[in-house]
Amino acid sequence: MQPVERIQDRIHHSLGVPPEVEELRAKVRKFAEEEVAPVVPQMEDGVEEVANFPGHLFRRMAELDFFRVPFASDENGAGYSTPMLAASVLMEELAYFSNTVAVIYDCQCVLAGRALQYASPELKMPYLSALMSGEKIACVAITEPEAGSDVSPSSVTTVAEPTGDGWKVTGRKRFIINACLADFACVLVKVEGRLTMLVIDMKQDGIVVPPPDRKMGMHGCLTSDIIFEGVRVPAANLIWQVGKGLRIALGTLTRGRIAVGASGVGMAQAAFDESVGHMKARQMYGKTLAEMQYWQFKLAERATQISMARDMYYKAALRHDTGEEFPEPETAMAKYYGTQVGADMARDAVQIFGGYGFMSRLGADDTNYRVERIYRESKGPEIYEGTNEIQKWMIARQIFGR
Ligand SMILES: Cc1cc2nc3c(=O)[nH]c(=O)nc-3n(C[C@H](O)[C@H](O)[C@H](O)COP(=O)(O)OP(=O)(O)OC[C@H]3O[C@@H](n4cnc5c(N)ncnc54)[C@H](O)[C@@H]3O)c2cc1C
Repeated sequence: MQPVERIQDRIHHSLGVPPEVEELRAKVRKFAEEEVAPVVPQMEDGVEEVANFPGHLFRRMAELDFFRVPFASDENGAGYSTPMLAASVLMEELAYFSNTVAVIYDCQCVLAGRALQYASPELKMPYLSALMSGEKIACVAITEPEAGSDVSPSSVTTVAEPTGDGWKVTGRKRFIINACLADFACVLVKVEGRLTMLVIDMKQDGIVVPPPDRKMGMHGCLTSDIIFEGVRVPAANLIWQVGKGLRIALGTLTRGRIAVGASGVGMAQAAFDESVGHMKARQMYGKTLAEMQYWQFKLAERATQISMARDMYYKAALRHDTGEEFPEPETAMAKYYGTQVGADMARDAVQIFGGYGFMSRLGADDTNYRVERIYRESKGPEIYEGTNEIQKWMIARQIFGR
């Protein structure tokens, strides 16, 4: 893969980003360039099977202490003064080369880590420690076959029946990242009609995980159903309290949405940089594509949008880092706008590359093209962790009230 110029280094000026976060950006970029980028074509040519999970990259992220980034020193985390901003910048840099790797990171520590932060120290610390060291793989299971956007108590059907010393869980979750590999899951259930979050160890009888789904993109990231067939869960595995499940789920998704917005920015920037490189090189009618004003204006608009989307996720993250549990409307804006810019820029990039944009690999000489893959990868984030319509609904609530 030929390296392209990182245009953002010339034209985006970050304000209010601490030097320690810029140092982290450089560290993640080096890892992504040297270790992620070379394996992406093979990983994304593969299909969704356990063998296609990038386990070596997962272990390297643990070794590099990336999973500690969202956590405070007293949780044995990295102790950044702006942990959400740091984790989001990390997501942007990973997604620049692979949204598969970014979403694996997101699921492990941004989502599952956040859900655990609502638990008592006795429950939280052992799971958090195993999650940060990479010893255990985590997942978060909220969605069900008939409950996606709508996770109200009347829609959720996974039930935890009290047994005296805990619960018996029965139901089915859908599209759960890492379900087929996970050691534990933070699961949204209903206890006597009240939404509740439990930590459930995945390696036990009564849990069935069917083969991974086949997706449009992100083939190294595995999603599956989880079927709970009367699974016993100890009382101690309750996060916070019965009835707090929706609050925990929304708190978890708040962090996830900021990080997913950042991943959209990463993909947009990658598609943008590839486009600029191609436009400067591709000749027609005696000039380059870069000299055509139609495309110059298009790229000027996209550069503005990418810059705005980056500033928006910075702002949401920084508000969260000041202690705001639900920094709205910035979180919803960062998620919807960042992922929309990612998908829009990726579509433009395919067009700019012409026929080469539609190719993943040229048969004649084995050249790999990135923009086709970015196009496929950029669609998922417009859907997961709350669709973009749900984000707009949340922004509208801030405008018009409930
Ligand atoms: C790759 C991938 C990974 C995922 N990983 C996980 C995971 O790890 N854990 C997990 O729990 N879930 C996961 N999900 C599930 C994801 O969060 C849901 O797909 C998403 O919330 C949408 O739910 P749904 O698919 O049921 O769509 P639906 O809720 O059926 O929505 C269908 C359409 O209706 C629209 N809609 C819904 N409500 C409104 C409204 N009020 N106004 C206007 N339009 C509306 C939606 O925007 C959408 O366009 C994943 C999904 C994908 C694709």
